[in-house]
Amino acid sequence: MIHLENVSKKYHNGTEALKNISLDIAPGEFVFVVGPSGAGKSTFLKLLIREEKASSGNITVNGRDLINIKKRKIPYLRRTMGIVFQDFRLIDKMSVYENVAFAMRAIGAEEKLIKKRVEAVLKLVGLEGTEHRKPNELSGGEQQRVSLARALVNEPEILIADEPTGNIDPELSLEVMKMLVAINRRGTTVIVVTHEHELVKIFGGRVIKISDGEITLDEFNPTKYNPEKSTASSEAEDKKENEEK
Ligand code: ADP
Repeated sequence: MIHLENVSKKYHNGTEALKNISLDIAPGEFVFVVGPSGAGKSTFLKLLIREEKASSGNITVNGRDLINIKKRKIPYLRRTMGIVFQDFRLIDKMSVYENVAFAMRAIGAEEKLIKKRVEAVLKLVGLEGTEHRKPNELSGGEQQRVSLARALVNEPEILIADEPTGNIDPELSLEVMKMLVAINRRGTTVIVVTHEHELVKIFGGRVIKISDGEITLDEFNPTKYNPEKSTASSEAEDKKENEEK
């Protein structure tokens, strides 16, 4: 579903952000992308959503050739993806309901369907009852869940999250991560860029490390997370323990 072959990205100022990377991500995978600041992680995500164009190589996402895609087709590509940002990017003057509905209005969905889906995704992220509140009346973790609901409302095949826990406290970041895992279990491919090694250790799965524009590690780690017997505090304790080591 995601295929990169010998992909390089050189910005206009000469910076080589990605150097000849190749990788495949299959439908339904859960992938962490890690690496130091400036390594090329955001560039990688920007290539996937075609915010940036590769300088060379081939990229296919959801059956679309992103090198030769026509500009007017890019919105159709993006409709197959949901994107969650570190800084939430919610519209302050709109209610929670409107923030989520907005993503469906943008594609011209009918009001009846919008209502049904917005209610369903708000329930999925545990935010029923907050429909009429404004983002600034919510905690950081809740705001991130609104942005997650907005990313999910159009039922994307791929969910891309760029440092989704960067602006929320550790307890809440566990909650957001658990939601990403639950969404993945429903079949959505999830790609998460994170700096948080502790979260990567707890949740395990595929980890791709980018360093200085190259893939320096691509491995599977076992998970310590069991959704059946999990509580927020049990992982928080694990996380604390790991941090102390
Ligand atoms: P990361 O997300 O891992 O921090 P980035 O993909 O943002 O890394 O950046 C990779 C490299 O590309 C860095 O050296 C950065 O300064 C450079 N870079 C990123 N965006 C641009 C741009 N629009 N123009 C020029 N250089 C850029």
